Amino acid sequence: MFGRSFQVNMATVNDNYLKLKAGYLFPEIARRVNEFAKNNPDAPIIRLGIGDVTEPLPEACRTAMIQAVNDMGDRTKFKGYGPEQGYEWLRVAIATHDFQSRGCNIDASEIFISDGSKCDTGNILDIFGDNNTIAVTDPVYPVYVDTNVMAGHTGDANDKGEYGGLIYLPITAENNFTAQIPTQKADLIYLCFPNNPTGSVATKEHLKAWVDYAKANGSIIFFDAAYEAYITDPTLPHSIYEIEGARDCAIEFRSFSKNAGFTGTRCALTVVPKNLMAKASDGSDVELWKLWNRRQSTKFNGVSYIVQRGAEAVYSTEGQAQIKALVSFYLENAKIIREQLTAAGLKVYGGVNAPYVWVQTPNGLSSWDFFDKLLHTCNVVGTPGSGFGAAGEGYFPHFGV
Ligand SMILES: *Cc1c(COP(=O)(O)O)cnc(C)c1O
Repeated sequence: MFGRSFQVNMATVNDNYLKLKAGYLFPEIARRVNEFAKNNPDAPIIRLGIGDVTEPLPEACRTAMIQAVNDMGDRTKFKGYGPEQGYEWLRVAIATHDFQSRGCNIDASEIFISDGSKCDTGNILDIFGDNNTIAVTDPVYPVYVDTNVMAGHTGDANDKGEYGGLIYLPITAENNFTAQIPTQKADLIYLCFPNNPTGSVATKEHLKAWVDYAKANGSIIFFDAAYEAYITDPTLPHSIYEIEGARDCAIEFRSFSKNAGFTGTRCALTVVPKNLMAKASDGSDVELWKLWNRRQSTKFNGVSYIVQRGAEAVYSTEGQAQIKALVSFYLENAKIIREQLTAAGLKVYGGVNAPYVWVQTPNGLSSWDFFDKLLHTCNVVGTPGSGFGAAGEGYFPHFGV
């Protein structure tokens, strides 16, 4: 009876966190697996990991990082705090190799190095107002939705896991896995192509339609290109800046996690073009680059010198060959999965320009029913597609990584 709850002026929490549903998927998977394991103690359970790489860091990156560790032990080469935006040599390598070589007019000064696209796609909301209308694809990378819930940009979730106030754009077999351009106005739009989790891609024409929509509506597109290295079709765009006009309406996120195995090493980047504008509440135009630069300089102290040297090595001749081999390995896995599941009579999507294979559940089974069937008959643990959004119902993801 003398508990703290008796204090009347207790500190309060951010109530928006209490709206989050994401805590539900993995505990429910664990509950079903534990129950199965208890009743079938001898079953050799295979757990398909979700969304992590398996292959070690490329040698070029390791060699560069070892050299960088040695630099740190040498008084003349030692580095303390680096630039919050990242070292110039890394930003120039990225601008040259990833953007200018593909005809994108992106300057090194528009690139911000960070410790991950997960953080960047969440943190970017810091510089936007709270009254924007937000559109996401469905299914979706959960970070985009949950960070908006945390920021108070949504209402409560319904039992399908859809939050009030968000515009959901289904990507399903019915629309050929193309995110439909909304009929209403969205201020902030999250697009991820090649797509996690469906493995679908966006053509130049499709991205052009998005850029035209964004320019007509004064919207900003958040383009997540984490899987661009997996594009095998030479006609597909790797960057949204390959589309004319995108500098006026898009921010792009990239990461070394999936092309170079940096999920545990941590390095990514965000591109904010200098002329990209949004409105202040007094109606004036504000350059987003200035706000993001201010945000990063205040709340972030840069990525370690050692890791940035590792990332720079991705652009060396050896590094380029090694990441190509790495990506090919995962694409080969995706191909095997795709071909074997197709041969087994399943309808399978993705897995060609992305490590993700997206399987339609057979006989109209719900994704949780398919989860149970897979667990009980094959002792394999997957993830139900409905966990990625209401339109993921009836699908089951498989990751080639
Ligand atoms: C893996 C992944 C990222 C990369 O996240 P990091 O924090 O850089 O590891 C970004 N977006 C999507 C959709 C991803 O699947």
